[in-house]
Amino acid sequence: MAGVYVHIPFCKSRCIYCDFYSTTMSGNRNLFVERLLAEASERKSFLGNRSIRTVYVGGGTPSQLPASALQKLVAGLAEIFDLSAVEEFTLEVNPEDITPQYAASLPSCINRISMGVQSFVDSELALLQRRHNAQKPAEAIQLLRDVAHIQNISIDLMYGLPNQTLQSFQHSIDEALKLGTQHISAYNLSVEEGTRLSQLVDEGKLTVADEKLCLSMNAMLRRKLHEAGFVQYEISNYALKGFESKHNSSYWNRTPYLGLGPGAHSYDGERLRCWNLSNLRDYLQGNRLSESETLSDDDLFNEQIMLGLRTSHGAILTESPALDRLISQNLLQKVSQSDRYRLTENGLALADEVIRRLMR
Ligand code: SF4
Repeated sequence: MAGVYVHIPFCKSRCIYCDFYSTTMSGNRNLFVERLLAEASERKSFLGNRSIRTVYVGGGTPSQLPASALQKLVAGLAEIFDLSAVEEFTLEVNPEDITPQYAASLPSCINRISMGVQSFVDSELALLQRRHNAQKPAEAIQLLRDVAHIQNISIDLMYGLPNQTLQSFQHSIDEALKLGTQHISAYNLSVEEGTRLSQLVDEGKLTVADEKLCLSMNAMLRRKLHEAGFVQYEISNYALKGFESKHNSSYWNRTPYLGLGPGAHSYDGERLRCWNLSNLRDYLQGNRLSESETLSDDDLFNEQIMLGLRTSHGAILTESPALDRLISQNLLQKVSQSDRYRLTENGLALADEVIRRLMR
């Protein structure tokens, strides 16, 4: 089994918190798709003869690709790879890009949508410099369901935003649940170096929510989603039964994947990780520059802990004084009838610290 990730590095504008690789430069979208397909042909053998189970087109903002370019990309991928075993084909979109025409033009093999919503409070969206308002996600989801016939939809939320309160986050969760999506990802805002947010925080013009408030928001989120029937299958990801993201789960299971496009990462399932440099200009000129690393035994050990403990399946851990201490502090628990351990309720709130204490 294997996955393919395609990175579309275009955004209409930059959100203040974002440090993903994307550009607002217009760039030739058709040429970009040609380069992506050329890379796909060139690197097809990376996955050996494994069958491709998931495809994920992420970004950036993939819905910034004109419909014709997206169709060309999907048709080209289907010619290069055998996609007959694909179970999940995800497209990331932003709500404001979903018009009736765009929904009608989506290739029929796309069977899952991941939509960046972040908040249902207009003032929070404006502060983040998102382009949509609080009403737009419901309209976009309706179009995706009715026109594109896509029923597996995920939305992203954020908490810990400047000026966000427990009440305003509760409102966002309630509105998210009203949409009836099958999957919700919720991320604690982090202030990344080099972003506009980091500059505003450094200048004292914005303050992000403190840790105590973030913990309360997270506890409320987990309670409300649990009551609504969602299972937290990863630290930031919640799904109704059977709707866990297969593609993202494969990252945590260390399944091989091929990443195409500037900034995209690939993993051979064993010791090789490689990534394209984040440079659209070079990529468009046909100069695909990449770097790679070979994982050591310690890297593999640490990855297994870092990735496994993020999920409800947990990680395989051998007995050690550190493990005993974490169990006695009620931060880790054994998964019944297995040699795996996972984070407890308390451990989830302190995941980074628990993982750090187990790593080599
Ligand atoms: S959050 Fe999404 S839409 Fe906003 S700048 Fe980053 S990649 Fe683009």
